[in-house]
Amino acid sequence: MVTVYETFAEILNAGRNPARRTIKGPRATYVTRKGPDLIALTYQTTEVIIAREDGRVILDSGGWKTVTTKARINEYGPCGYSLGQHKGIWTLYGPGPVAPSITCTPAAKSWPFADGIMINETTGRVSNYGDSRKDLAQRKILKKYVDKYYTAMVNGDLGIAPGPGDCLFCLCGAQGGTVEDPGSSHLGSHLEEVYLVPSLGINVLKEGYVDVLKEGSKGQPTVGTSLSRYAAYALQETLRTGEPLQDPIGIGRRQIKRAFMKYIGARLGIVA
Ligand SMILES: [Zn+2]
Repeated sequence: MVTVYETFAEILNAGRNPARRTIKGPRATYVTRKGPDLIALTYQTTEVIIAREDGRVILDSGGWKTVTTKARINEYGPCGYSLGQHKGIWTLYGPGPVAPSITCTPAAKSWPFADGIMINETTGRVSNYGDSRKDLAQRKILKKYVDKYYTAMVNGDLGIAPGPGDCLFCLCGAQGGTVEDPGSSHLGSHLEEVYLVPSLGINVLKEGYVDVLKEGSKGQPTVGTSLSRYAAYALQETLRTGEPLQDPIGIGRRQIKRAFMKYIGARLGIVA
């Protein structure tokens, strides 16, 4: 069996720079030597896989539990193990062919994922795994918050955005600036306090709506196309005017809620 470390070492050896090599094909993915017995695979800014020569492998989403992060880990992670999603919770399956969500083959074993989960390829031991009950509880809180937010917009109770009831961090983002808030703790406290921040809706709109036609013509895969034009327009209008959200044909509801789940979930490490 070829270990993750051996695979990474091979990738580095085949390149010109023995310390770093960009992987052709997938976006923003590269392999870096971190030490004499340590090599990491970075996706965007997170070392999603760290492999030691002794066979220990650490997986980390960096808080971004997105489809692409999962895809990178599944492509380059330990042989026989795979990350899947079960009831909205990231789950590590193995050793087995693939996650049950992909085929119908039940995996021999599964562990709730947590950032820092460690697989020992030599012994097969998995440690630092997560707590699925905690993950489920977090997701429930997020879902409840999004439901309340949506209802407030439908009833015209949210007010205009930006508005006097705004959170400074959310407002700053909505106005195109950035305020440092590592770990997005303001979002966590909004969920906890069920504080319906008007400008949060603007940030969701900005991230959730990409002009599909424009992007598609370049042949680029789109990120954040969870909102159709119709849903984006309905959301934009309620935020701008404070009037009740207009969704007479009812197709905006699912998309808008989904966009909120994705925006907040990505920042708090909750699978949305
Ligand atoms: Zn905020």
